[in-house]
Amino acid sequence: MTTKVFLSTHPEPVDPADAKISVFDRGFLYGDSVYETMRTAGGWPLEFERHLRRLRRSGAGIGLTIPFSDEELAGVVARTHAASGNDESYVRMVVTRGSGPVALDPRDSEDPLLVVLVKPLELPKAEAYEHGISAVVVGITKNAGTSLDPTIKSGNYLSNILALRQAYERGGQDAIMCSPEGAVSEGATSNVFMVRGGQLETPHMRTGLLPGITRLAVFELAEAMGVSVAETTLAPDHLRAADEVFLTSSVRGIMPVTQLDGTVVGDGHAGPLTRRLHEAYQAYVVQAAVQAPSDRVRMQTDPGPEPGDQP
Ligand code: PLP
Repeated sequence: MTTKVFLSTHPEPVDPADAKISVFDRGFLYGDSVYETMRTAGGWPLEFERHLRRLRRSGAGIGLTIPFSDEELAGVVARTHAASGNDESYVRMVVTRGSGPVALDPRDSEDPLLVVLVKPLELPKAEAYEHGISAVVVGITKNAGTSLDPTIKSGNYLSNILALRQAYERGGQDAIMCSPEGAVSEGATSNVFMVRGGQLETPHMRTGLLPGITRLAVFELAEAMGVSVAETTLAPDHLRAADEVFLTSSVRGIMPVTQLDGTVVGDGHAGPLTRRLHEAYQAYVVQAAVQAPSDRVRMQTDPGPEPGDQP
């Protein structure tokens, strides 16, 4: 199990010690980049198409045209995962606007850099899914929609980093951020849901959250269970009084929050609906792993027959 890095400046994935980028890269200088974080299931990124779509949408949102085709990106991920020798990997795909003079003007950088970082997938321990984690509703708010569009997953995560710092200072393991108007929005790297009176609720997109791919999966799983999800405006007090609270993200899946601002949520354990959704999500990951064709790596790395070749 290893970490391997693909850089579009090199033909093949390299070891972390050899993965070097220019100090003039705008991703490094300004966070002028977009990215996706994924996990593999059966050696293939879970919900890869949705991640690729969001990556391109994020790129378009900052005027960064991603010059790599979906097939190239798939091939790079497959090769880097294969080179790592990991059973399952955490995959981070970053596209920066590339290097240029040390100046904000984005027009001088026209050669985006692709970095794909693959490391062994480390999931939270089973007991975290059982006992949950503690979270803090922090004072650092989401950006207003009139600044950096929150639906863009850019390399600029400083607000979220500050939110986490605040949560740690207050003894929590994760941070929940609000909109500038004070409505609950999302976690530092996750979306948030709550259950009250058997009803599943999650903050509305207008609170400035990232449209999470796991959030969408929860919508789909809940619907399949006959449980409705309401996108609503939630105050921190609603969350504190909820029967169940959980966070969702591609790597952690569905993570119960059993302590909020130092107060126990529900009975202090993962609640019944959270458990059902967690189990359904686990089953969905297993299903995705089964469906990931075993020759997927070969398919994506082998250019395959030319059009016109005989079968
Ligand atoms: N919100 C933020 C700010 C995030 O950074 C993330 C994931 O990194 C999410 C939500 C969850 O998104 P997803 O489920 O697509 O991983």
